[in-house]
Amino acid sequence: MTEIKTTCCVVGGGPAGMMLGFLLARAGVRVVLLEKHEDFLRDFRGDTVHPSTLELMHELGLLDEFLKIPHSAVRQMSMQIGHDHITIGHFEHLPVQCKFIALMPQWDFLNFLADHGRRYPSFTLRMRNEATDLILDNGRVTGVRAKTPDGEIEIRADLTVGCDGRHSILRERAGFSVENLHAPMDVMWFRVSRSNNDPADVVAHVESGRMMVMLNRNDYWQCAFVIPKGTADKVRHAGLDRFRTSVGEIAPMLRGRLHEIDSWDKVKLLTVEVDRLRQWYRPGLICIGDAAHAMSPIGGVGINLAVQDAVASANILAEPLRQGRVTIGTLKQIQERRNFPTRVTQRLQILMQNNLIGPALASEGAQLHAPWFMKMMQLPLLRRIPGRLLAFGVRPEHIHSPSA
Ligand SMILES: Cc1cc2nc3c(=O)[nH]c(=O)nc-3n(C[C@H](O)[C@H](O)[C@H](O)COP(=O)(O)OP(=O)(O)OC[C@H]3O[C@@H](n4cnc5c(N)ncnc54)[C@H](O)[C@@H]3O)c2cc1C
Repeated sequence: MTEIKTTCCVVGGGPAGMMLGFLLARAGVRVVLLEKHEDFLRDFRGDTVHPSTLELMHELGLLDEFLKIPHSAVRQMSMQIGHDHITIGHFEHLPVQCKFIALMPQWDFLNFLADHGRRYPSFTLRMRNEATDLILDNGRVTGVRAKTPDGEIEIRADLTVGCDGRHSILRERAGFSVENLHAPMDVMWFRVSRSNNDPADVVAHVESGRMMVMLNRNDYWQCAFVIPKGTADKVRHAGLDRFRTSVGEIAPMLRGRLHEIDSWDKVKLLTVEVDRLRQWYRPGLICIGDAAHAMSPIGGVGINLAVQDAVASANILAEPLRQGRVTIGTLKQIQERRNFPTRVTQRLQILMQNNLIGPALASEGAQLHAPWFMKMMQLPLLRRIPGRLLAFGVRPEHIHSPSA
């Protein structure tokens, strides 16, 4: 069996893994990054690049190049809840280079990081390499086994980082204990073409019994139709006509175009999970991003949090990895740094779930109103708070890992 030796093995090429792999390679650490798919061209990923991530690009000197990738800029986010129009984020007052959320297909974001990672000789990205198990030596994780097109391989590393998302095999094999916070919804994800007269911004509607969010991807809308958890079979069973009618009722401007959804193959089900690990690490292994804390799509902040985890991890790990002295204390430092932002963000998502989305999906025919705390945030003195939270999250990170 082929055996590869490296300093850090990162499993999963999503936002967390790709950012971490790039930053560690930039710091001169030998990194092998495993991604199970052959490319990043998958349509179920979030597309939001937040002001804090754009600020990191600026700190890295990559912002101008990054903004050349086609994107649309969201400068304000609002939501229609019954008859209440609620602004949930203004970004124009933020003290950063980019006062907007860039909506960009996630594969462009990931390809950008991969291309920059490849500029460093210490960076190895192995696509179609799926980690299948941990390698243990006296209870310490010393690497992973992976399935590749050429057979099974072993990657031996001083440290393994699980960035393999909400269904992380690494966290399962490590026996980490998971706290499940539950989500009341799942999402049906599909595309409908855009017309020149459509609005440019994100469109979010919550009505009695249903909810839909539409993301502008220039020539089409990426639509998220939110359904009560576990009801996808019921929706499918009711038929495509009924589904198209429901979509048309909540988004009347799409009515003339809904024939484009002519098969269930064009509607992907995304199951929403919200959970977190009680402890993110054990000797030789740490999990970050969704592998440590699966995020709900509410607020579109999961990518942001994953990137922030990666930046904090690189800041803390770069030097100890270079010197071969990563201890359990080093890994504990990462969880201590990122636990607080994770808990606060999940708490806010649960607040929205319990006070808006859950009740809206469960209600039948009642007139909906925005919850009191959302109305309060419309007051001039308070309206900056949700914008800041959406843009930066809690405890924003900055690049301190070195450039070798
Ligand atoms: C319906 C839905 C919509 C969402 N929309 C948004 C949004 O608009 N904005 C936002 O910020 N967040 C959104 N989120 C949350 C966001 O997707 C996640 O929080 C974020 O992607 C986490 O990044 P990650 O790198 O930790 O994990 P992931 O993005 O899940 O990446 C994990 C990577 O690991 C790879 N992988 C998995 N297992 C293995 C293995 N065994 N070996 C090798 N590779 C492996 C996967 O292929 C994947 O590339 C949404 C979530 C859901 C459920």
